[in-house]
Amino acid sequence: MTSSADNPAGTRSRVLIVDDSPDVHRLLRARLKQEEIEIVSAESGRAGLDEVAKQRPSLILLDLDMPGIDGFEFLRTLKEDSATHHIPVVILSAMSNPQDKVAAFDLGAHDFVTKPFELTELRVRIRAALRMNALLQMLSQRAQIDGLTGLWNRAYFDQRVQDEVARVQRHPGPLSIAFIDADHFKSINDTFGHPAGDAVLQGIGRTLQRSIRQTDIACRYGGEEFVLIMPATPPADAQALCDRIRTTIEALVWPRHPERKVTVSMGVAGSSIGAGLTAPAWVEAADQCVYSAKKSGRNRVVMNDLSAGKAAASTEPAPLRKAG
Ligand code: GH3
Ligand code: MG
Ligand code: MG
Repeated sequence: MTSSADNPAGTRSRVLIVDDSPDVHRLLRARLKQEEIEIVSAESGRAGLDEVAKQRPSLILLDLDMPGIDGFEFLRTLKEDSATHHIPVVILSAMSNPQDKVAAFDLGAHDFVTKPFELTELRVRIRAALRMNALLQMLSQRAQIDGLTGLWNRAYFDQRVQDEVARVQRHPGPLSIAFIDADHFKSINDTFGHPAGDAVLQGIGRTLQRSIRQTDIACRYGGEEFVLIMPATPPADAQALCDRIRTTIEALVWPRHPERKVTVSMGVAGSSIGAGLTAPAWVEAADQCVYSAKKSGRNRVVMNDLSAGKAAASTEPAPLRKAG
């Protein structure tokens, strides 16, 4: 499973300093040199928010008293955005009255260090905030992974498909979504037992993971259903990929039942230009394609090109079926 954490193990944490005083930036850069961090500087609230969007820091050191967007407004904006609200903020301010501290904590600040700061103390507070951030990231990632297959789970899919559909609405471009449903899976459980069924689900998960590109997202939707999100992939390419996956799965030999093959039916809904559809409508379109694939004989890929308004195109298994 690839990590989506802001700071995968082994890389330096990125710390953004937002302060209108160049002296503070100089001082912190000099004094935090020994820390395992990469420092990014912004000398205004506005520039700070831009850096947050570009750099996705693991921690922000924030001044409160700044012209234009001050620290309070910066915090409010950061915490209102679901993409950035998890980033811990340590306030670094000369404002030392309790009301300011309370206001900052109310807005979601993680810690408050009063200027002039003591460097040893600031270092341990930075480390503590980064440690907490890493743990939270790990926990939230675990909560998004399917225990049986190691793929992303349904909760992650729901969020991610929204994000990807929103992205192509903003910047029109290709996107495809595929549903994968194991054929007659219940009979594998019934004939060979539930553990054999589990092994099949794990095998399908592995095949998906090995077949896709790094930017594609493989999820277990639930039960014996899987789903792929393929950003920047036109539907015809997604259909070709799915057909490769279909034939790969069909060719697998299962140690627990070598004589019994497993096939999957797949439905692809995609658009080359980012159709004006909501995420649920997109998912529904892919689901409809699976339904057609099942109805027309299983072990096939049915594709719906949402951009062209074309009729659903089906990729059928090799000559065998056509002869029959
Ligand atoms: P179809 O070709 O029409 O898709 O038929 P099917 O048998 O694959 O579909 P159906 O929805 O009738 O059955 C799905 C089965 O998947 C029923 C359920 O017991 C089984 N299942 C769901 N989750 C798991 C799991 O985690 N492990 C195992 N072994 N079986 C599961
Ligand atoms: Mg099913
Ligand atoms: Mg099924």
